[in-house]
Amino acid sequence: MIISEAIKNGSKALSYKSIPNAYLDSEILMAKAINRDRKYILLNSNKKISKENLSFFSKLINERLKRKPIAQLTNQKFFWSSEFYINNHTLIPRPDTELIVENILKLTKHKKKLSILDIGVGSGCILLSVLKEKKDFYGTGIDLSKNCLNISRINANRLNVFSRLKLFKSNVDKFTLGKYDLIVSNPPYIEKSKIKYLDKDVASFEPKLALDGGLDGLSEIRKVIKKSSELIKKNGKLILEIGFDQKYKVINLLKREGYYINSVEKDLAKNDRCIISTKI
Ligand code: GLN
Repeated sequence: MIISEAIKNGSKALSYKSIPNAYLDSEILMAKAINRDRKYILLNSNKKISKENLSFFSKLINERLKRKPIAQLTNQKFFWSSEFYINNHTLIPRPDTELIVENILKLTKHKKKLSILDIGVGSGCILLSVLKEKKDFYGTGIDLSKNCLNISRINANRLNVFSRLKLFKSNVDKFTLGKYDLIVSNPPYIEKSKIKYLDKDVASFEPKLALDGGLDGLSEIRKVIKKSSELIKKNGKLILEIGFDQKYKVINLLKREGYYINSVEKDLAKNDRCIISTKI
């Protein structure tokens, strides 16, 4: 069988199960199966595919049919300006989260040598993207999950920022190390009872630890805000990613802890997604 035919077959199987972007997914999985990029595929679609590669490709298509996310099948996801290593232990970086990076870079345009704390660092997508752009900034990432810290370490090495990064396995409640100019967090903020209604790709394959915000969705955000008050320097910035309907509740929590609200930023779908505040 030739490459293009296999891709078409894969795509048909995926569309039959109503998987969006079936053709693109099939092409990406072919690239993974033959260990080449998509450009190679476009230029060599008439080449024969070996038996071993074809059976690897079928295996990948079968997993995608069960809704396993593409990023977990290829072990990578592009975010901001880099390719991140990903597996099933961490949240897959979301395009909406790039808004956080964008805002941090805007806020720190003329700043030097800032130290940044990322609470729930996960894959490292936020913190490492900032460190890559700002060569004299220092980063600290904490996470409950040892697996996530390993993923962050791999990504920090890939992005060449490892020498300016410290990673700690810690619960946000228990972390007491250092004072930071800027604290960022994309905490789990989905209401526990609503997780099952998310896309199957998300609900069945991404780690609950990264999604579950407790009964009202705010239990982790509350902890982050409270703890940040102790860890942030005076006039330091706290930048939070939030759920589309959490703006007013989170603003209240921040005000109660003595933060000034600078702005609320909207994501690509025009949902409130990021709150920028200052500790006064
Ligand atoms: N900081 C990581 C991200 O933004 C992980 C966040 C999380 O697991 N909730 O993708």
